Amino acid sequence: MAKKTAKKSRAKPASKRRSQQSPRGNSAPGQENQHEYALRVRMYRQGLGDCFLLSFPKPEKGYFHLLIDCGVIQGTPDGASLMRAVAADIAQTTAGKIDVLVATHEHWDHLSGFIQAKETFENVEVGQVWLAWTEDPRNDSACRLRTERAHRLAALWIGLSQMHQRLDVDGQARSTLERASQILSFFGIDPAVDKPPPAGLGVAAAAALKTTGDAMDWLRAKSPAPRFFEPGEQIELEGTGGVQVYVLGPPTDTAKLFKDLPTSSGRETYGARLAAAEREFFTNALFGDGMEADGLQFYQALRFESKYRIDEVGAQEMPFFRDHYFRPSDGDDEAWRRIDANWTNGAAELALKLDNDTNNTSLALAFELPDGRVLLFPGDAQVGNWESWHVDDNGQPRVWQVGTRNVTTKSLLNRTVLYKVGHHGSHNATLRAQGLEMMIDSQLAAMLPVDVYIAHEKKGWKEMPFEPLLDRLNELAQGRILQADQDKQALPGESADRQSSRLEAIERFLARVTEANQPIGVATPGKKNVQRPLYFDYLL
Ligand SMILES: [Zn+2]
Repeated sequence: MAKKTAKKSRAKPASKRRSQQSPRGNSAPGQENQHEYALRVRMYRQGLGDCFLLSFPKPEKGYFHLLIDCGVIQGTPDGASLMRAVAADIAQTTAGKIDVLVATHEHWDHLSGFIQAKETFENVEVGQVWLAWTEDPRNDSACRLRTERAHRLAALWIGLSQMHQRLDVDGQARSTLERASQILSFFGIDPAVDKPPPAGLGVAAAAALKTTGDAMDWLRAKSPAPRFFEPGEQIELEGTGGVQVYVLGPPTDTAKLFKDLPTSSGRETYGARLAAAEREFFTNALFGDGMEADGLQFYQALRFESKYRIDEVGAQEMPFFRDHYFRPSDGDDEAWRRIDANWTNGAAELALKLDNDTNNTSLALAFELPDGRVLLFPGDAQVGNWESWHVDDNGQPRVWQVGTRNVTTKSLLNRTVLYKVGHHGSHNATLRAQGLEMMIDSQLAAMLPVDVYIAHEKKGWKEMPFEPLLDRLNELAQGRILQADQDKQALPGESADRQSSRLEAIERFLARVTEANQPIGVATPGKKNVQRPLYFDYLL
């Protein structure tokens, strides 16, 4: 019913838009030569957050629309109105029907739109909802993971909130403390405004996951039978002429699921942000230089009522803590993980681990076009999630049998022509040898949903995106990187000092990229409201 009316209303605005733009550009589906390209990927540019609309022309008529995530990081100026603009465009472009709605993981910068623009999404028909197995309410270990996450988040929230209230910190220290609290914004909690309920950990846990949890609940209820995927599954998108989707992650093996960081050598990734450096980073963020003397005060401020505490001996007997804090194999490497007398490290560890673990539940998908080209959408998958893509539960190389073909993860990566960069370009969300270095297709391009101003200035995440990773990505993709906060004019092909050797490749690429006519207002350094196009369209 909704479908019918929606389809009718599509034609007019589409032709109107088209007349103002380049013929190939963001013309509405159904209007142009359908055989000119295999699909259009629309990357919304709301800021630090993911929202991608994949529109596959159907051989006979119309488009198959698949939406991956829809969110912006909490604390983005005018975030809600940005998401309403994004949602309105999705509703119009899809004529009110999304065939598949994918939510990669339960983070606000991937889900906020479903709450902030709920009225719009309520009126959009959704064919199927796709989620990771970790969101399945009938899966026991998924439920345990979610409960555990809620408790850890609540503990962090209570701790940071108490520290705000009790710790006598001034100017600089307070501002760094506030920056550290920004980790809560991945869960839609505004540390400056939202206070944990005083009734204790259990109540706080329910409240802590309310915002992102509401979004996930809405998604589960949006389709009568949401699908929960495990790695190794494979789906053909109906009516697209044979587009195959391969489920790469999240891993079902909890050791991999909780492996967020590279080992101390850093060889798996491009980064040398080691575990110890991570801890130091947060410690400094909490206290600034020379503030160690306040450790005891911090401890007193942060520690929980005794009924919520576990002593070290008791913790060693509990499987979760034994696995994650007392693993003997790594020797002393694990010692710093223990939250015993030093709450400074404890809070830092808790914050990061919580954030990374949730990222690692990302539903990672590879889309294979009928001509063999592949698009990689890993959500915010981290080290252990990426590593797990290559092997099955028996430790054997993972092989999908598609008709008479054998497809491996390596072959998918080898044929990748579009990489959605993981976790906004973080150091631990793009694997090196087992990941990016396998993306050897000469047409490789990347989409990077990051806003440097928001990351650096609003959140204090100075290494997002991570420069060594960007450098390598630039080499492999020959400059074909679309970054949410950079206009097309800023891309090397359109700038004056372009390198001749790359020119042709970039120009060919840019000919297939258009920007929206519709502007959105975003904050930048020094200026409160700068206009930038709502999205990039890339035809491939
Ligand atoms: Zn994210």
